[in-house]
Amino acid sequence: MIASSNNDSSEPGENASRARTPFFVDKNEPKNDAVDYPAIEAAVRVILEAVGEDPKRDGLIETPARVARMYAEMFAGLKSDPGRHLSKVFEEDYDEIVLVRDISFCSMCEHHLLPFTGKAHIAYLPSGKVVGLSKLARVVEEVARRPQVQERLTHTVANLIEERLSARGVAVVVESTHSCMTMRGVRKPGSLCLTSAMRGTFKTDPKSRAEVLGLINRSAG
Ligand SMILES: [Zn+2]
Repeated sequence: MIASSNNDSSEPGENASRARTPFFVDKNEPKNDAVDYPAIEAAVRVILEAVGEDPKRDGLIETPARVARMYAEMFAGLKSDPGRHLSKVFEEDYDEIVLVRDISFCSMCEHHLLPFTGKAHIAYLPSGKVVGLSKLARVVEEVARRPQVQERLTHTVANLIEERLSARGVAVVVESTHSCMTMRGVRKPGSLCLTSAMRGTFKTDPKSRAEVLGLINRSAG
């Protein structure tokens, strides 16, 4: 079974209601109560002053509050357990590869607090338990919503699926572009960072690994 995802698994209308309400009202969304908005606002004002700006000028007056809301959203997954999305499983007599490709995500590099964005591809070999395909996308999205490095994002997702689904094999491949490489430092636009995590059969059996990587790399269509 192969599915392609653009994170559009939500019901029609869900996005519309999400636009009207704070992002954490959706019960599936992570929530981080620890976020101290005034502290972030004060810190952003300090940064603006430190680079020689005037935080009181018209264009910047709302910026600290905006940045605080943005960080609250980007780091909403910090205190939550992304594995909760894998708690509802279905008994299914299916033991072949389940693959969801092209799960888009946006995360925040913990070294520079700049976004890195890309796609995750997740495959697993069920052992009698399968999970709703959109739940895999939920897991990626939530693991991404914390100060993160791509390597950790990749193996955290793999570990969660291996543990919570007792999967016989898990393959997670993540490809992304890091703003900290494209807009600062070496400034290499277009460079792609690829990471993978293999568990169980996909780690121990080269034939299974080749099969799953073939499916992941197969061009769309
Ligand atoms: Zn970075």
